[in-house]
Amino acid sequence: MELAIGIDLGTTNSAIAYIDNHGKPMVIRNDIGESITPSVLCFKNDELLVGEEAKEMQALGMYPVAAFFKRLMGDESFIFHANGCDYSAIQLSTFLLKKIKGDAEAALGQKITQAVITVPAYFKDPERNATIAAGKAAGIDVMQVINEPTAAAVAYGLHNSENKQHILVYDLGGGTFDVSLLEYESDTTRVKNSVGNHRLGGKDWDDRIIEYLASQFQDEFGLDPLEDSESMAELLIQAEEAKKKLTTVERAKISISHDGEKGRYTLGRTTFEELTADLMELTIALSLRVLDDINMTPQDVDGVLLVGGSTRMPMVHRFIKEKFGHTPMRGVNVDEAVALGAALVAAQRINENKPKPMFSLGGRAKTVDVTNHSLGMIAVNQDQTAYTNSIILPKNAEIPCQDIRPYQHRTRSRGNNELEIFMTQGESELPEDISYLGRYVVRDIPHQKNGITVIDIGYHYDESGTVQVKVTDSQSQKKLDVTIEVLPTNIADRFMGSPELQNEEPEHVTAYLAFDLSGSMSGTPLHEAKKAALNFLKNTDLSHCSIGIIAFSDRVKTKLAASQNAKTIQVAINDLTVCETGVCNGAHPFDEIYSLLNDVDGRRFGIVLADGSWSNQPRAVTQAKKCHSSDIDIISIGFGSADQQFLKDIASSDEDSFFTSMEGLVETFSTIAQVLTETGGIRPASKNKKRGFISMLNGR
Ligand code: AMP
Repeated sequence: MELAIGIDLGTTNSAIAYIDNHGKPMVIRNDIGESITPSVLCFKNDELLVGEEAKEMQALGMYPVAAFFKRLMGDESFIFHANGCDYSAIQLSTFLLKKIKGDAEAALGQKITQAVITVPAYFKDPERNATIAAGKAAGIDVMQVINEPTAAAVAYGLHNSENKQHILVYDLGGGTFDVSLLEYESDTTRVKNSVGNHRLGGKDWDDRIIEYLASQFQDEFGLDPLEDSESMAELLIQAEEAKKKLTTVERAKISISHDGEKGRYTLGRTTFEELTADLMELTIALSLRVLDDINMTPQDVDGVLLVGGSTRMPMVHRFIKEKFGHTPMRGVNVDEAVALGAALVAAQRINENKPKPMFSLGGRAKTVDVTNHSLGMIAVNQDQTAYTNSIILPKNAEIPCQDIRPYQHRTRSRGNNELEIFMTQGESELPEDISYLGRYVVRDIPHQKNGITVIDIGYHYDESGTVQVKVTDSQSQKKLDVTIEVLPTNIADRFMGSPELQNEEPEHVTAYLAFDLSGSMSGTPLHEAKKAALNFLKNTDLSHCSIGIIAFSDRVKTKLAASQNAKTIQVAINDLTVCETGVCNGAHPFDEIYSLLNDVDGRRFGIVLADGSWSNQPRAVTQAKKCHSSDIDIISIGFGSADQQFLKDIASSDEDSFFTSMEGLVETFSTIAQVLTETGGIRPASKNKKRGFISMLNGR
């Protein structure tokens, strides 16, 4: 039978629980019979000690010891060095998970293959992914990563409450503080809001005792015990023990040995509480913020639930009673609540996958979490004057959730169009006021004629709180490949000024006008064609456009290589003479266009004007296709008895083929001139020439 396993992978201690044969969640004791295992590793020569033994070794200070590494989950720059080897936070967590999994397997006599693992509610995507990676490396299929306060509330059975209730979950562990407001209604639990400080925990209370005792010792002997690693390690243990004692007794005795001297001290609970009052206030301020953020007050809270070893301290109970008017709930061991809740959620998940029984007693409890922060990306605002944080998934959306926003991206006709997406977390629109979660690079963005591709960017926030980014070309609905890349340091600085977009030069356009000069063009047709071409010239911005002239009929002749000189182009147009390249239509201009444009940078166009039908049309189409596949745009213009289907076949797309009357030629050419001017693509913003940036659409 599948075991429903929940793991509380804690900063200071970890615990593992399962659902027994009677459906009761139970903590599984480790190899020394303890319900919690210290999250500590000791690299003793070739031996790796994990848990209690490692913690004991920490006191001796003889070997490298890794502790509090949960705080560094997701931080790729963190490396722990021990005995010539380097370990990441994921690897350290893997060792710990292997140990607690192994102990639990020995206790249950059964293999563990899957589990629900808990994380602090404020863990972001990288930390959550790192937790999943550690689980996998330890041989555990992580069914779901859930927030610790949610797990705790499930353990208290609050998820089955009939009436709507608001519960504050105050979780003060060894190294982290987390406070959440949960809402219960019938069988649904919602984490309405959650804030935390993952550098605040019982260890800070210990540190205050250490500082206090060290200064007492210094006053007495003129020596600082903190200078010596052994004395310091011993003091660390003593301080924590004293703190725990003060939970039940009024006074604790501590002796410090250092440099041949021994000091004996007594710490009273009142002094301890005075020394740490500001830490306590910090937790209360965050607890009030969690309510304030969602326009709630302490009066709206129906109960307070305590989680984490440090909530045993009497001052926590007193402050909570004072500020919230509620005596904290009792009933579940504060060390075990999270693991027990995780096991219950694991059971829910396993049951979800089973066929529903024909008869059931009551509904199955459901746990719904919400996003704790808005997730967005950096974009250029609509008037292109500033970078802005464009929110895709708003704060407090129920998880799992997903949303898609359209953005426009400037592309170039040639080369690989790339885009960087910087995923953000936070509510502000200002890039300097938010945090950055990741950098995603999208390559091969399809280019559109007008140089603007609309792409849909979707975020999918799954049940474990990790985010997937999906990018689609809006026009073709084709999914684009997204790769995760390293986030540069000081990334916010990059978005402080105004976007470079405004200063960008337009992409250069080179266009060859190819005129059919066969006999059928004599008289009015050529006259009208010249008039249209001269008008085209007038409407073209030659500062970023070069125009060349080709004549063709039985032969092909380049009359003018692409030029930006209006006078020269005008002369070449006026010089066009019927039959100067022969009477019939045996030759086609595409090979000439191809060889003239293939090595030219920027956008390239061949604009081909023809009346009537050409001989050997299939060959013309083949030649034209060679141009299309090299991103040389062929625009065909036909009039008179021109073959419309053939015009479409030689053009790059149906929209690039124009069939008009002789009188309509001038207007058709001006439309094309306009397209060319707008097409002058904008150069990408970044120093890396090929990487463009993205602008908001629809004011979002
Ligand atoms: P956790 O991270 O939830 O395992 O909590 C560990 C923290 O709880 C450590 O800082 C412990 O020192 C602290 N702790 C455990 N028991 C007590 C106690 N009886 N009184 C005060 N703090 C405690």
